[in-house]
Amino acid sequence: MDRPPAWIEPRAAYLHVPFCAHHCGYCDFAVSVGRDELMPAYVDALIAEMARLEVPRPMDTIFIGGGTPTHLPDAEFERLLTAIGHWLPLNPGGEFSVESNPESLEAEKCVAMRRAGVTRVSIGVQSFQPHLLKALDRAHRNEHIPRAIGAASDAGFEFSLDLIFAAPGATPDDWARDLDAALTFGANHLSTYGLTYEKGTPLWKDRERGRLMPATEDDELAMYEFAIDRLADAGLDQYEISNFARPGHRCRHNEHYWANHAYYGFGVGAARYVDFHRELNVRNTPDYIRKALAGESVTFQTELLTPRDRAYETMAVQLRRIAGIAFAPFEHQTGFALESLVGERLPALLDRGLLQRSDTSLSLTRAGRRLADGIVEDLLKSKPTPASRRPLPRLAD
Ligand code: SF4
Repeated sequence: MDRPPAWIEPRAAYLHVPFCAHHCGYCDFAVSVGRDELMPAYVDALIAEMARLEVPRPMDTIFIGGGTPTHLPDAEFERLLTAIGHWLPLNPGGEFSVESNPESLEAEKCVAMRRAGVTRVSIGVQSFQPHLLKALDRAHRNEHIPRAIGAASDAGFEFSLDLIFAAPGATPDDWARDLDAALTFGANHLSTYGLTYEKGTPLWKDRERGRLMPATEDDELAMYEFAIDRLADAGLDQYEISNFARPGHRCRHNEHYWANHAYYGFGVGAARYVDFHRELNVRNTPDYIRKALAGESVTFQTELLTPRDRAYETMAVQLRRIAGIAFAPFEHQTGFALESLVGERLPALLDRGLLQRSDTSLSLTRAGRRLADGIVEDLLKSKPTPASRRPLPRLAD
């Protein structure tokens, strides 16, 4: 019997581990810092939530994100990996990623992860330079980075590096040095993000009080453009607004999100998209643990999307891909012709050189990639209901 398509039957699973050793100054995620005593109960809760699947569900991709999953002590991490192996067995050739930080990605942990079927680690390097790590208020030092990359390579993992550009005080030369360092270390996949000053974070407060000098918009733009060219020269193609990979090294898990396919989500604050329902788990770690272990629902918000909602969401996430939206598969997946949804708003965006259309697809131009959020927002204005302002799911990398 044919399997249902990937936008109906989840083939990807995300598990969230909220614990971090340190709360970085720019981070506004709901992380648990200084609550390490909760870790064993949290792993119990994750296992209890997975057990609600009742039968094992084979997956094409699994992603453990955070927080810092590798901050879990070895015994807890191994318990979690064993349970994942039972409830979410990886299909042959599948991708199993773990998010990590340089200071907590150690050789023994990598060996245990490899034994448990992990295939890929995503390392939150952010910068190779001490003054920028300090400016970002990161916990690791630059000497942790080669050790972490070495441990990942020795264990035979694919690895991806996360880099942040436009940190306070960062110059275009700094950014060129970070990109070169990532390439020298042999990264086949890079995720690059411009620093955002999220309201309420220590870095946001410092900026408000004039205690730091943010990069100028022009410098930030120049750094983004520079990365596209520098990485293309080195053989890493941009395949999503913030992601670059050599051929065969894309993050398949995130490609599920950018296709708007179904996925499971487990853990505090985790999102899932199953049976056309978008659901979010409770965001407080002790609450999540208590509910999961008491057999109560850990879902905090649930919404059944209408076919039209689904089509608009699919448009919004697929447009993040450099390849854009292929008309025929889009219509097959959503039941709507793309033009019937956003046709009215297209001519202006095409005329301004922000979108480009071929016979088979619609995609962002290079100029459009810098303004992707605004373009999607503009296209969503064609949507008749206010639900169009619903935030899109957080990506794993
Ligand atoms: S390690 Fe990552 S998740 Fe944890 S506080 Fe820093 S940026 Fe946030």
